[in-house]
Parts: sequence; C-alpha cells; structure tokens
Amino acid sequence: MGSVIVQDSRIKPLNQKSDRNGKYVLYWMQQSQRAEFNHALEFAIQQANQRDLPLLVCFALMDDYPEANVRHYRFMLEGLRETQQTLEQRGIKFMLQRGHPAKVPLQLSKDAALVVCDRGYLRHQKIWRAALANQADCHVVQVEADVVVPVEEVTDKAEFAARTIRPKIHRLLKNYLINLSPVRLKRTSLDLHGTSVDLGNIDTLLGTMKLDRTVPAVSCFFPGGTFQARKKLRQFLQRDFGPYAKTRNQPQTNHVSHISMHLHFGQISPLQIALAARECASHAESKKSFLEELIVRRELAQNFTEFTPNYDQYVSLPRWARQTLDDHRGDKRTSFYSREELDSAKTHDPYWNASMLEMKYTGYMHNAMRMYWGKKILEWTRTPEEGFQIALELNNRYFLDGRDPNGYANVAWIFGLHDRPWKERPIFGKVRYMNAAGLERKCDIHGYVQKVEKLVSKARANGIRFPGD
Ligand SMILES: Cc1cc2nc3c(=O)[nH]c(=O)nc-3n(C[C@H](O)[C@H](O)[C@H](O)COP(=O)(O)OP(=O)(O)OC[C@H]3O[C@@H](n4cnc5c(N)ncnc54)[C@H](O)[C@@H]3O)c2cc1C
Repeated sequence: MGSVIVQDSRIKPLNQKSDRNGKYVLYWMQQSQRAEFNHALEFAIQQANQRDLPLLVCFALMDDYPEANVRHYRFMLEGLRETQQTLEQRGIKFMLQRGHPAKVPLQLSKDAALVVCDRGYLRHQKIWRAALANQADCHVVQVEADVVVPVEEVTDKAEFAARTIRPKIHRLLKNYLINLSPVRLKRTSLDLHGTSVDLGNIDTLLGTMKLDRTVPAVSCFFPGGTFQARKKLRQFLQRDFGPYAKTRNQPQTNHVSHISMHLHFGQISPLQIALAARECASHAESKKSFLEELIVRRELAQNFTEFTPNYDQYVSLPRWARQTLDDHRGDKRTSFYSREELDSAKTHDPYWNASMLEMKYTGYMHNAMRMYWGKKILEWTRTPEEGFQIALELNNRYFLDGRDPNGYANVAWIFGLHDRPWKERPIFGKVRYMNAAGLERKCDIHGYVQKVEKLVSKARANGIRFPGD
C-alpha cells in the first residue's frame, strides 16, 4: 500500500470551479465499475487523504439507460454488488441511488469538496459529465481509467486503421504499462449517512425497475463482477493462452478470454489484463496477438468514438466505402431478410443461424463469427444503410458487451471502416467480402454449429427462452 501512479495525462479538469471545504470527496462511478485497478478511485482516495476527508463513492441507477435491457442490467448489478462489498472492505461507503446519472452525483456534490469521475467515450457519457461539471458548485475532475494509453496521448484525430494507430500506441506503452497500487483511505466513510439501494436481492430490485425484459439474463453462462473477470483471466492465461495466436480464429474452440463484457462494464481494467498477459513466461506469439486485440484494436475503437461525433450512423463510414456501396446499391440480391427474420435466426444459412443463436441465447459470439455475421447482414438487406442499422441494433440488443466503442467500430468495420478497398464484387463493391466456403476452408464450422446447439440446450434448460421456444 502506498505509492500510486496516476499519470497526469489521465487527469482532466471538467470545470474551472475552485476547491472548497466539504464533508467528503465524491467519486461518481459510472464507466469504471470496480474497486481495484481503477485510476479514478485511487486518485479520489489520494485527494480525500490530502484534505483529511472521507471518500464517498456513488452510482446512479437509471431505468432507461440507452439501449439497455434486463440482460445488461443483471450483469451490471451483479458486478456492482461485489464492488460495494470490496469498497466497504476498504472503508469506503458506496451509495447506489436510483436516478439520472447527471442528477444523483449533482445532489451529492452539494456537500463535496471535490468531485472525481471516470471517463466514457460515448455521446451520452460525455453529455452527463459536461452537465455535472457545469451545474456543480465545486471542482469536477475526470480520470481516464479504462484504457492502457490515454486516448488523447495517442493522437488528436480519428485514425485510419490499426496500422496507423499501432506505432503511436506502442511508442507510449512503456509509460503506461505500470502497476497501480491501492492507496489506503485514511478516514473511513462507512459512518456517512445516506440512502442506498439494497443490492442483496438483484431479482427483487430488477422487478421494481421499468425495463425492457424481452432479452433474458444469461448469468448461467456469464455472471457479472470483478471476481468472475479475474477468474476468467486466470483460467484463460493458464489454459487457453498457448493456442490463442493459432486458434483465436477458430470458433469451434474456446481459446479466447471471454472478457469483453467485463471490460464493457469496467469490471476489470485493461491495464490489469495486459500486465497479467505480459508476465506470462511463455507463449510469445499469443502474447503479441492478445495484446494487439486488447490494446491496439480496442483503443482504436475508443479513438473512433471519441473523434467521430456520428459514430453510430452510416455517414461515419469512410467516403470510399460509402461510394463503392452506393455504386452497387442496385445489384441483385439472391437472398433478402427482414430484421425479424434475421432476429429469429431463420435464414437459409445454418452457419449464420448458429451465430445468431449464440448471440441471442448466450449474450456472446466468437469474433470469427461476428465478422461473418455482419458481412452477411450487409449482403442480405435491402440497402447498406438498412444493413448497418439492423446490425448495430442486434449487436447492442443481445451482446453483453454491446453498446460499447468496440461494437460501434466493428459494425462500421463490416462496412469498410479501418479497412482498405479489396477486389470489386457485387453488392459489397470494394468492401471486404466473406462467404461460407471461407468458413468451411478455415475452421471446423460444423464443430461450431454443434457447439452452439449444446449452448442453446443449456440456455433453455436454464430458462433462457424467446417467443416460439
Ligand atoms: C461485427 C462485430 C461486432 C462486434 N461487436 C462488439 C461489441 O459490441 N463489443 C465488443 O466488446 N467487441 C465487439 N466486437 C469485437 C470482438 O469480436 C470482441 O471484442 C471479442 O470477440 C470479445 O471476445 P473475447 O473477450 O473473448 O476476445 P479476446 O480474443 O479474448 O480478446 C481480448 C479483448 O481484446 C479486445 N478485442 C478482441 N477483438 C477485438 C476487435 N476485433 N476489436 C476491438 N477489440 C477487440 C476485446 O476487448 C476483448 O475482450 C465485434 C466484432 C465484430 C466483427
């Protein structure tokens, strides 16, 4: 316990209001929903200690978080229950209150000397932070905790592709792949009074909320929380890391970390994962490949949403991609499917149907199949604009890791973002194409279909059902 390294480049004042006397320092937790390896939390503790004040952590629970349904809420609340317990073990009071994210911390800021918040890269997250900074009467400071290298340290513009951002990130890694030690809070806040929602029974709490309940929770596959994230990381590094470089594109296997949903909810830090992977004594190729995905590809996605205001719209695609897709707008489609037909996994293609079922019934899909899944939506819908919208909507509805910069960047990748022009073909134009024969050649696609059949049986046995089941 002791020294804490929160680089200055992670810290950004969100307003110019001055420090003042208060009863506590407030950390409004939103993106980084964890009690360890959290730069915003450690910074807030440090600030509280310097002022000889306790630290209060709050979380605003709203019923209508953009595009969230009961599947997402359950996973998040499982994580927050654990975060509350871990914070309490550190002498820190955690208040989870129902209400709007810009309002709950604003109310609690009235007694705060300083407000610390973490950073998010999506539009609504930025709006909430700006509103709080604008309305609070005290200083509000943001600490960037969910990337290895702070986004603006890498570049000040949207990057073209992985090849352009990679050297910029690699150059800075030595400054940021640095352990984060916990700081001890000198004055406990456990005796602070204030209301907090009871997380003892998550089903009861969910029952009181006005939510979209049409997408069932998937805790039988993926329970939420930092403990689960750490356990998965350990298992992955011990068991599946060796083959990762060679088999990460083999959807019939499970040689991947399955950690994206924990990253999405900030239940584990990418820094913690990167340090653990780097420390592995062997598997040099897998290490390189995994760190490329975890740091370069993931942080390329955050770069995309940060510097592309309309990251969730078709117009965010590169000009060449829109042009070529437009040139092929009139091409004859051999198969057409509506959003409903796609959602019900009833196409002529058993591989695609399996991927859609994996997504619906488990909340996850192997990366190799996500690519195929998206490319076929582009091929089978009336217009590229419609395909883009349907892909993004299904992505965000069913994936536990959906509604994330990674989802926006990767759905856009299907339509040409961060890629280059390829050989021209019908419908796709110069946008990269994928077909079933490629899957049959490159992986054991029948093994994947069988894997999904077993997953769907397990899901149904656990009560995960959709209309028609
Ligand atoms: C059409 C499409 C949609 C996608 N939608 C999402 C989404 O909504 N949310 C999401 O988190 N990821 C999305 N991805 C990226 C990727 O498929 C998932 O991050 C990955 O499959 C998650 O599984 P994992 O944690 O087992 O990955 P691992 O292979 O174990 O990788 C470790 C981590 O690296 C990062 N990563 C891996 N692949 C990518 C990638 N291609 N781009 C960016 N980061 C990556 C993720 O954070 C992942 O958790 C999408 C990809 C495609 C092609």
